[in-house]
Amino acid sequence: MHNKNSTLVESYSKLYDVRKIREDFPILKIMVHGKPLVYLDNAATTQKPQYVIDKTNNYYEKYNANIHRGVHALSQEATEAFESSRIIIKNFINALGKNEIIFTRGTTESINLVASSYGRKNIKEGDEIIISTMEHHSNIVPWQMLCAEKNAKLRIIPINEEGEIIFEEFEKMINEKTKFVSVVYASNSLGNVNPVKKIISLAHSYNIPVMLDAAQAVNHLKIDVQQLDCDFLAFSGHKLYGPTGIGILYGKVNHLEAMPPYQGGGDMISKVTFEETTYNELPHKFEAGTPDIAGAIGLGAAIEYIEKIGLENIAYHENILLEYATKAVSDLQGLRIIGTAKEKIGVLSFHFENVHPHDVGTFLDFEGVAIRTGHHCTQPLMRRFGVPATSRASFGMYNTIEEVDVLVNGLKKILEVFG
Ligand code: PLP
Repeated sequence: MHNKNSTLVESYSKLYDVRKIREDFPILKIMVHGKPLVYLDNAATTQKPQYVIDKTNNYYEKYNANIHRGVHALSQEATEAFESSRIIIKNFINALGKNEIIFTRGTTESINLVASSYGRKNIKEGDEIIISTMEHHSNIVPWQMLCAEKNAKLRIIPINEEGEIIFEEFEKMINEKTKFVSVVYASNSLGNVNPVKKIISLAHSYNIPVMLDAAQAVNHLKIDVQQLDCDFLAFSGHKLYGPTGIGILYGKVNHLEAMPPYQGGGDMISKVTFEETTYNELPHKFEAGTPDIAGAIGLGAAIEYIEKIGLENIAYHENILLEYATKAVSDLQGLRIIGTAKEKIGVLSFHFENVHPHDVGTFLDFEGVAIRTGHHCTQPLMRRFGVPATSRASFGMYNTIEEVDVLVNGLKKILEVFG
């Protein structure tokens, strides 16, 4: 352990029992290339606690049935579990009502839903949509497609060298042509937390709705959609210690009521004739077809699990890991940290002067360390920083200081070999 870092870490570790938390995650016991797994790819996806695995399996083992349709016992039990999850999620982000919580496949589908439904209805030729330089492709391409269809313009808020949004540029950019703003709450590539409240209040002063991509924020920051006053918010279950293939779109009820359906099919209808169809009430209007029932139940379980530990405790723990890791790598020769904002989630992106990120990732893999290397689905952001890719270590609730040491030692070995 690095001495300068140790006091803070030791005093905190008495309060936060990371060993106990690790016991809840079966995958953390596995070996990779003969070494204990050090999983530092949490921004890509998080591991799942036994509680989530059991709740999901339980559905398949004990009450697997389709929801909302059957009068039989299994269907009613499945419906109840599915809808209970919706309420857990509503409470987790403090939405006004459960009709504002739409189950989707994930952040990507949630953004596509808004771009397709709200966007097609409201965006006209010559209108402008604002996003930022650090957006994930999921929060670029759907808007680009919409702009191409409508002959509208996509405008990009620039960022500074630290990776922070230049708010004054946003102030200059917003005008009467602006019809929508969609920004990432916390960046998956840089880790910085954006001033979303300021962005929302400025946009609202022009009557412009704001969507937040909260894929990376939701497992680090307490989200209160009423307090944020965002119009839409998207996140994915799998980054929240829950299953893949399930996610959430939150939308203010007035927007959702006014929006046309995204997809047609079962469950989203009220009455169908060959002449016309009337649509179901919210949230079902946006949930066509059989959803990922087990996934929704698993996501509810993941939130229960997180709340038991406490999101604030998790965030505090991850911040210590980030601070510790940032100090430890800053001495390494030729290493440049990409994303040095003051307020960050547990993401550490870096680039070695003389070693390609792919080699960094492959070398570390043989040490049992899983990090992410590449463009992280943010190619324009990579271009902004003049790098083809970065290496990214991202921390979760179960990571330890010792694991950061394994990472840093691995990086030192890389420097010996490639340096
Ligand atoms: N937005 C951000 C900031 C992300 O980090 C990700 C995933 O990496 C996404 C959107 C897309 O999430 P998903 O692939 O779960 O739809």
